[in-house]
Amino acid sequence: MDAQTVSYVNELLKIINGADETRLVIERFLTALRHELVFDNVAAYLQDNESGALEIVYARAVGRAKTAEADAAWGEEIASQVLANKQLLLQEPTSLSASDDRVHQPFLLGLPLHTEGVVNGALVFVRFGGPAYAPGHISLAALGASLLSLLFERRTWRKMNEEMGKLKQQIQLQEDFVSTISHELRTPLGFIKGYSTSLLRDDTSWDAETQKEFLTIIDEEADRLSLLIENVLESARLQSKTLPLRFQPLRLDAVLRDVSTRVRSRYKDLDVTLDLRSSTTIQADGVRIAQVFENLFNNAIKYAPGSPIIVGLKQVGHLMVVTFTDYGPGIPPESLPLIFERFYRLRTENATGTGLGLYICKQIIEAHRGKIWAESKPGQGTTFFIELPVNQTAIT
Ligand code: ADP
Repeated sequence: MDAQTVSYVNELLKIINGADETRLVIERFLTALRHELVFDNVAAYLQDNESGALEIVYARAVGRAKTAEADAAWGEEIASQVLANKQLLLQEPTSLSASDDRVHQPFLLGLPLHTEGVVNGALVFVRFGGPAYAPGHISLAALGASLLSLLFERRTWRKMNEEMGKLKQQIQLQEDFVSTISHELRTPLGFIKGYSTSLLRDDTSWDAETQKEFLTIIDEEADRLSLLIENVLESARLQSKTLPLRFQPLRLDAVLRDVSTRVRSRYKDLDVTLDLRSSTTIQADGVRIAQVFENLFNNAIKYAPGSPIIVGLKQVGHLMVVTFTDYGPGIPPESLPLIFERFYRLRTENATGTGLGLYICKQIIEAHRGKIWAESKPGQGTTFFIELPVNQTAIT
């Protein structure tokens, strides 16, 4: 082998080993290959692991017939044959008539692609109107197919690795969830058991006031337990996407007015200002969106007691922006990113809660392709922001 050939093969190898995105690497590789191997179109087909069907993973038209015949359908038949025969195939027109359109005289070269020695696809080159592939070209094309096989194999490994990583993360999350949930369930249950056992003791008699106090604790903890179970189920359903969202035309200003009226009927002294500057209709699940707004109201009431609440709505380009502002104690900067996590609670002394409220809000908003976050200045107050896309046509 002469030095020039070695350096050319080296160049091809270097491209294949490049760290860029697969498509870009293939593109560069075929451009380099085309310096020595002339072709009009090229397509790579790989067998789908599950269905066994051949799928086009790459197709490119560089020479003649760039448009009309450029889709990769022209190579499908020979690709299937390569896969069935597990070997290189050449298909050339039997007779060439000068008058015939060259596009109708394809010279096809199909080469097997393989993973771990098993043929699982084909690389197909076409030259419209020839010339026929010389033995040197065929060897070079075969080398190209082998190198591309390596690339596809590496891509499969990388994908599997990524999936493994995600799976590991999921398992870890589940484990954390199980341990947190058992702890969270045990706490109220411990109170209920402790106080009821005390009340049932034969050797002690409790005065009516103490009995009432114990029963109140039992009652409150039972409520807490039930809220916790409800929230846990809801968050699990949201996470596994089994909670269906019903998208329908919705005016956020109307929902905010409704929720605010509902909340105000429960808290008569609540100082709420609605600053609603848009009546655009969007596609959203009204029940779920109302749930989010109610949650933010309740949090402001719980964690910023006595503070006015200002609710804003405006449209900014393609987004609806909702804000909930209070002038309460605020949230320290280090806790801001954590408040949307499952079971994260900050100020638990005076407020009942499960640490799931904001997590559920986030799930709902993200299911609408929106965003939710909070900004806060400790001692001055907190603002929760929600962005929802005006145009939800992308949602399926
Ligand atoms: P929960 O209210 O059940 O504790 P959430 O997920 O709703 O859980 O909220 C998480 C934490 O975020 C709360 O424990 C609270 O400390 C903090 N938080 C939420 N809203 C506010 C607010 N408006 N002001 C200050 N802190 C807040």
